Amino acid sequence: MIKTSKTGELIVISGTTCAGKDTVVKTLLSRRNDMKLAVSYTSRPMRDGEVDGVDYYFVTKEQFEDKIKNDDFLEYAEVHGNYYGTPKAEVKDLLETGKDIILVIDVKGAEQIKKLFPSVILIFVMAPSMEEVKRRIISRGKETADQIIKRFQTAYNEINEYHKYNYVVVNDILDDAVNKIEAILLASKCRVDRIEEVSVENQEEIIHEFLVDKEFVNEKMEIK
Ligand code: 5GP
Repeated sequence: MIKTSKTGELIVISGTTCAGKDTVVKTLLSRRNDMKLAVSYTSRPMRDGEVDGVDYYFVTKEQFEDKIKNDDFLEYAEVHGNYYGTPKAEVKDLLETGKDIILVIDVKGAEQIKKLFPSVILIFVMAPSMEEVKRRIISRGKETADQIIKRFQTAYNEINEYHKYNYVVVNDILDDAVNKIEAILLASKCRVDRIEEVSVENQEEIIHEFLVDKEFVNEKMEIK
């Protein structure tokens, strides 16, 4: 009776510093094989443990600028002096597979994607408290006191961006956060704007079938 769109959802996930969005996304992807991450391009150097084509496509600044000229990106932004961009062709191909596609991008990127795809689902992942952000920044143990303060201030400012999103997911307990994202996706599949066609069979034929063909009229409705 109801035919709904088989197209995958486009989901943008952003998060504040130390909100743990990357772990949330990894866990989500490990649970679902109907979901894919669109790998971004970046001009920043590869970090230890990162894999080209998995975490990002790592390119030089010049290569990235050529791609901008070729109009290869759905959106791109400069974050901390490096370019990051979402490849147009990859997202298009992934959407055609019918899978749900996740973009893990910053707030500026999310705003651009929203303009291009108004039905995109925008999810903002937050840490449970600033006290917890402080604990997570310090426990990384990699930064100087100055860097720690800067990261903390960044996290503070980023929180004000939440109203640009459709959903906020607090990442206190990892499994709960991932469950919430799955629930958001499940609900979004039932949205009215995903309905492509509603068809009802011929009313008269159906009435005829259960009243006349089954002799329902004679049994129940005959007036004597
Ligand atoms: P990192 O260098 O730590 O991996 O990422 C830095 C920031 O860039 C993060 O906020 C991340 O979400 C964002 N980012 C990653 N890929 C993209 C992208 O394709 N477009 C935009 N606009 N931001 C991105």
